Amino acid sequence: MFVLKCKNLVIAGVLILAFIAGAVCIGAINRPEKSVAAAEIKVVVDAGHGGIDGGVTGVKTGVKESELNLAVAKKLAKLFENAGIDVVLTRKNDAGLYGIATGNLKRKDMEARRDIILKEKPALVISVHMNQYPVSSRRGAQVFFAENSEEGKELADCVQKSFNAMEETVREYSALKGDYYILNSHPYPACIAECGFLSNPDDEALLITDAYQEKIAYAIFKGAIDFLSETTSYARFPERVEEV
Ligand SMILES: [Zn+2]
Repeated sequence: MFVLKCKNLVIAGVLILAFIAGAVCIGAINRPEKSVAAAEIKVVVDAGHGGIDGGVTGVKTGVKESELNLAVAKKLAKLFENAGIDVVLTRKNDAGLYGIATGNLKRKDMEARRDIILKEKPALVISVHMNQYPVSSRRGAQVFFAENSEEGKELADCVQKSFNAMEETVREYSALKGDYYILNSHPYPACIAECGFLSNPDDEALLITDAYQEKIAYAIFKGAIDFLSETTSYARFPERVEEV
């Protein structure tokens, strides 16, 4: 009886081990397939301005646009990373991209950003900016795309829709055509996300907070995922979006 029990236990043990090994194998087969597919997708996040070019400034606090752009861009990059998407930031600190050049810094800075995009061949490009307008009452987030880019328009529409759905939104916009170097100097789907108006004190008060920067970054991310789900293999793993 004891011997029989032992035999049974051994058989049961072998079966359990085989089952675990099988499960591990299945997991091992599935996991790389998933991550490889997600890693195939690369995006470029561009924090506008930097270095001597601070961009526009906040009407109340004098905060530099370049600082806010970087804060939102880093938060956006984190969201892409968490979703298993490869992300490249054009800048990771307050410096511009003009190196030790002495003349025509803005042009060199912009060309360096274009070169990063051309090298990375991304599924999409998002350039993060803050807006300014002579009439201080204007507020809200506004997206731009290159006139000749069908995919750029699709991306911009997705991000604009996501901005418009934010609870803080007081005025809904449509994505607009814009003649900007960061949009039309390469062939990849791209949009400029103007996250709000630093010429409006209410927008400025929101944009300088960490919590609202998170919300804005998430709205851009959600719009980008909607676009990727339509245009790339990312649509095969929609559950990843829910995990974030
Ligand atoms: Zn700007």
